[in-house]
Amino acid sequence: MELVFVTANAHKAAEVQKVVSTAIKIVSLKDINCSDDIEETANTFQGNALLKAKHVYNKYNKNCFADDSGLEVEALNNEPGVFSARYAGVPKSDEKNTEKLLKNLEGIENRKARFRTVIALILDGKEYLFEGIIEGTIAQQPIGTNGFGYDPVFIPAGYTKTFAQMTAEEKNQISHRAIAVSKMNEFLKAQNKS
Ligand code: IMP
Repeated sequence: MELVFVTANAHKAAEVQKVVSTAIKIVSLKDINCSDDIEETANTFQGNALLKAKHVYNKYNKNCFADDSGLEVEALNNEPGVFSARYAGVPKSDEKNTEKLLKNLEGIENRKARFRTVIALILDGKEYLFEGIIEGTIAQQPIGTNGFGYDPVFIPAGYTKTFAQMTAEEKNQISHRAIAVSKMNEFLKAQNKS
């Protein structure tokens, strides 16, 4: 079975392929010749993930899934949330976003935060949602050079280093995205699709 990952990022698709069985071929938007820029206009991760998956399902009539992720910081009313990528405005900048986050947390003791991913899967016309969460805290300053986004300031609970100090393998064992993908994989297995 072919399953379209609604992403232009072939690397993301390859990461998911490592988790799901080879009975399922994960393809990206490029593979189906789709270059649509699907705007994420919803105000929840679930809304944005569904919006992207529905766009592809309705246009191509193919089984597909989309994800939406972000960082929620408790003391900032769960900001930046769905605005994580463009927290400090456009053009998007990981460094500026991180700077803004640290500035907004200056003098605040509660550094609790979580990364959240929601995956929306559309399989034979039915919608399914899978969520992955990793709890942690925001560091006082960026540390580490691996990863992307807020990785240099996110310390997962139970660890003393940031995501950016971990190898990709280490992060992939525990990340919000990995948890959501693994839940979808279990579901596909139970459906005898994987
Ligand atoms: P996306 O929905 O996966 O594209 O994530 C949206 C934004 O959330 C990214 O541009 C990052 O700013 C942030 N984000 C999501 N996942 C991660 C992560 O694993 N590490 C760091 N930042 C992340």
